[in-house]
Amino acid sequence: MKNRANVVIIGGGVVGCSIAYNLAKKGVKDVVLLEKSYLSSGATGRCGAGVRQQWGTKQNCLLASESMNIFEHFADILQIKRDIELKQKGYLLLAYSDKELEQFKKNIEVQHSLNIPSVLLTPKEAKEIVPDLNIEKLVGAAYCAKDGHANPFQVTLGYAEAAQRLGVEINKFTEVKDIKTKNDAVLGVQTNKGFIECTKVVIAAGGWTQNIAKMAGVDLPIYSERHEILVTESVKNILDPMLMSFSYNIYCQQEPNGSFIMGYGPENEPPSYNMESSWEFLETMSKKATWLLPPLKNIRIIRQWAGLYNVSPDRQPIVSQINQVEGLYVACGFSGHGFMLAPAVGILMADIVTGDNLTFDVILDLERFNRGEIIEEPSVV
Ligand code: FAD
Repeated sequence: MKNRANVVIIGGGVVGCSIAYNLAKKGVKDVVLLEKSYLSSGATGRCGAGVRQQWGTKQNCLLASESMNIFEHFADILQIKRDIELKQKGYLLLAYSDKELEQFKKNIEVQHSLNIPSVLLTPKEAKEIVPDLNIEKLVGAAYCAKDGHANPFQVTLGYAEAAQRLGVEINKFTEVKDIKTKNDAVLGVQTNKGFIECTKVVIAAGGWTQNIAKMAGVDLPIYSERHEILVTESVKNILDPMLMSFSYNIYCQQEPNGSFIMGYGPENEPPSYNMESSWEFLETMSKKATWLLPPLKNIRIIRQWAGLYNVSPDRQPIVSQINQVEGLYVACGFSGHGFMLAPAVGILMADIVTGDNLTFDVILDLERFNRGEIIEEPSVV
């Protein structure tokens, strides 16, 4: 392991690896990435793999559609031989009240301003896309055929591979224990394998980011929360798009191999680092899923797991330098949608670290909370 670097990135999830690649692509030398376990071991390898552009804020729409452009040409852009298994079979967002449908209409206006090809559907039209969908109580739906899912492991490993080709050093099973500062500036990073001297540190540690920022004396307005998820046995194809409802609080998709992956946003889940699975989740999830898609009734669940959402006050990411400590940067607070935004976030963070003009017209700095410039993202599970 190098003992000196220009930039140290903490975290080997999809975000850290995307930042590493984008910094190296810009010509930044001596970039070192540190991961306490294996690449994708955090939220990235535990996520639902969904990639959608149907968001309510312009910033999330922009980052998601720019990321989709990259997912669509991933291997060519990164010059790697890796299939990220992108399947654009759509996202069907379900509205169960007039208020929700109104919000969808507003969202679609924002999406159309960025050329995202989303449409509003009647319950009957939604059923044409998913014939087995229970449309009882359904008021309408929003649909974008270009949304879908991709393989988070392949995307992360693709970024890591391309970053290494461009000179990035990736150290797995290397845990950051402390960030050393002097006169409010970064001096280096202490790991379980030694000290790395550096003046720039990017924390992209998912659900653990707030703890690592504290090592440098910084309190971030984010928290972590357990989200559970399960996968079923593989059965014949009955569902093409990802089904999602914000009010009924569920997402469910069928993978190309025939397995269903599904989860819901837990109610009353306290902030924690708990990644244990629960029986309660299995029961509630089964009830929700079989109501939504009745043929799921006789399908067996084969595995369940959990991961951490890292939640920000406005449910939009924080991609920012930290004014309090020179040379410290964070990419966190993805609030359950960091996989799909990671390609654009990597570009953005590389711009911020190098001091270049921002490629994307977004304001995701930490200071927005102090300025009171908060536009909450309405479309989250
Ligand atoms: P992580 O993948 O968590 O990576 C952070 C890494 O930092 C970890 O590998 C960890 O080991 C490492 N680390 C922590 N502490 C240290 C340390 N001290 N030293 C060194 N390394 C350290 N997003 C979507 O876009 N679509 C979805 O469908 C979706 N579904 C989800 C479903 C679930 C159940 C969950 C939990 C999340 C879901 N998300 C989804 C959110 C998405 O997974 C995350 O936003 C995204 O993976 C965040 O990536 P990351 O690289 O920031 O964090």
